[in-house]
Amino acid sequence: MIKKVGDKTITLAETAGFCFGVKRAIDMAMESAPAVSLGPLIHNETAVARLEEEGIHVIGDLDEAGGLPVIIRSHGAGRSVYDAAKAKGVELIDATCPFVEKIHRIVSETDRQVVIAGDPDHAEVKGIAGWCPTDRPAIVCRTAEEAAGAALLLREKLRDKAGEILLVAQTTIKEETFDGVARALEEAGLDVERRNTICSATSKRQEECAALAADSDLMIVIGGRGSSNTRKLFEIASRYCENTHFVENLEDLPLREVRKCTKIGTVAGASTPDYTIKEVIANMSDVTLENKEMTMDDVLQSEEFNKSLKLPRNGEIVDGKVHQVNEDEVIVNLGVKKDGILQKSDASLEEGQTLADAYKVGDEIKAKVIKTDDGDGGILLSTKKLEYIANWEEVVKAYEDKSVIEVKVTRAVRGGVIAEYKEFSGFIPLSQLSDHFVVDAEEFVGQTMNVRVYRIDPAKTKAVFSHKMYLADERKKLIQEIWEKLHVDDVVEGTVMRFTNYGAFVDIGGIDGLLHISEISWGKLKHPEEVLSIGEKINVKILSMNEEKEKISLGLKQNTPEPWSVIDEKYEVGQVIEGKVVQIKEYGAFVELEPGLDGLVHISEVAHKRVENINNELELGQVVNVKILEIDKDRKRISLSIRETIEPPTPEEIAAEKAAKAAAEAEAAAVEEAPAEEAAPVEEAPAEEAAPEEAPAEAPAEETAPAEEAPAEEE
Ligand code: SF4
Repeated sequence: MIKKVGDKTITLAETAGFCFGVKRAIDMAMESAPAVSLGPLIHNETAVARLEEEGIHVIGDLDEAGGLPVIIRSHGAGRSVYDAAKAKGVELIDATCPFVEKIHRIVSETDRQVVIAGDPDHAEVKGIAGWCPTDRPAIVCRTAEEAAGAALLLREKLRDKAGEILLVAQTTIKEETFDGVARALEEAGLDVERRNTICSATSKRQEECAALAADSDLMIVIGGRGSSNTRKLFEIASRYCENTHFVENLEDLPLREVRKCTKIGTVAGASTPDYTIKEVIANMSDVTLENKEMTMDDVLQSEEFNKSLKLPRNGEIVDGKVHQVNEDEVIVNLGVKKDGILQKSDASLEEGQTLADAYKVGDEIKAKVIKTDDGDGGILLSTKKLEYIANWEEVVKAYEDKSVIEVKVTRAVRGGVIAEYKEFSGFIPLSQLSDHFVVDAEEFVGQTMNVRVYRIDPAKTKAVFSHKMYLADERKKLIQEIWEKLHVDDVVEGTVMRFTNYGAFVDIGGIDGLLHISEISWGKLKHPEEVLSIGEKINVKILSMNEEKEKISLGLKQNTPEPWSVIDEKYEVGQVIEGKVVQIKEYGAFVELEPGLDGLVHISEVAHKRVENINNELELGQVVNVKILEIDKDRKRISLSIRETIEPPTPEEIAAEKAAKAAAEAEAAAVEEAPAEEAAPVEEAPAEEAAPEEAPAEAPAEETAPAEEAPAEEE
């Protein structure tokens, strides 16, 4: 936070105030009040007094708990405290900072001799030491010099263990102290396993303090004198700015210096409450404002000041500036006291892109807060979530205006698949995956497909997609185009798709038309497959179109002229041609000359002899030669003769036939005159067979159609 007051600039460090561990401990304490804390929760007298008012009292020993729960502060405590509480039946509320807890685990699990770089009197260091084995107590070194001295003893002590050391750090010491201690041990020939457990919140705070102090003519360090990290800040600030002052409360504020200096830097320790920081800043502003342009209340209520102290909430969209980029995360300055952390897994990156490719220091970015604390005092951000929101809005828009979006099917689930639209995931039921029945959703995994948004649930941010709707739309468009292209009487190529008893359906470029059985051939058909086969390509004529009902009637026979219209060109009386017997009646047989053109061979024209039963002479399907006797175009009748296409019998043949007939008759008469008992057991001869009535010269009109009429055209 930078505050301009007159000709002065008051800068408050972004890291000023409670760290994650302290804030967590205070929150836990407030939730469990009334309670007692084993030692002050924070090294700040004013804050401790306020906590007292809230019902959090400080005790020095478990025996003073008085039946109240006992809070273990963020510094932690040794194992013995937990054992004693258990033995005494005291309820513990463990507010040990997770970073400190981690050090407890490290030292309790090692086989090496533990050395702690830190202050042996600090509660955190005592707590860490309390987790080391009692037969191998920790050695604590404040400085490199102390470590060099301890190294001699350690070498002696560890002679039989090859000098194995595990070095950990008090979380709030400086990096250089840790390095100095480590080097001193190593230079003494010890094998040192370094575990740098310095809290990054502390190092960030210290780095910012140094930078700010170097650029200020007055440095104010706010915090309790009992707070080691505040003391460290004071030490660092003093190194870079001679005019550095420790301010525990308002009385400590160097008013004369505040009036005199123009660049005032302010830092605060991890245990300094917000209200103390606000008070100090407001007071400095008030002192600075000689003409009272701004009052203390103005400063306290100023937008920038409040923004700097107010942390964003979960789900909030925040603006920030990229402060640092490394392999796994981007640190973002959000203009508040905590940094934003954008982890690689939450960053919106193209395939193969690194964080360094996508983000540069100084870039202004927008992100969504996904967690207000990452466990290390940072605010977890996501740009993916931000895209997710934008992508969800695109999905909603696509639903509203019925537009198409492209999705990728990522996995099969029960009843369908999950499909991703950019960062947003939706569901496609099996029934909406295709325009045909889907058995196995797995076959769609990995496919990219166009979909329509079928349903949305804004309350749950969920959407159902449909590929089937997209296909239906596309088909509609295609059909519309086809309808616009086609006209009655057009001849188009089609493919025979399927048969029914009344015709065939033919695909004419995306839509099916009906080729009725009566429109297939000029002749009579019983079933379309007599002349067509599935998959066959044929040219069909469009007979009619009904766009409203989406029906198209097709014709095939129209590709050839109607036989009667061209009969004169092909046939004449006296012509002998081949034909096929297609129907047999008592009075004659119908012979097909070509599809749609049948003629009648009267029974008297079947043979030279007298024919009594035509079935004895001809059979259906038989191919015969016929002579055209007559063509009646008006009545569409043709008279044919088989008899005239064959040679008449010779007189000898006639005589032989007559003789044979007479012999047969004589034999029949002899049988008739013989005595009954001697009569041959033959059946009664029939009464003299009457000559069959003369068959009509022509077939009755209704019998000229040999095939059954097909049903009326079905739609
Ligand atoms: S300084 Fe770090 S380790 Fe210490 S309490 Fe705060 S967050 Fe935890």
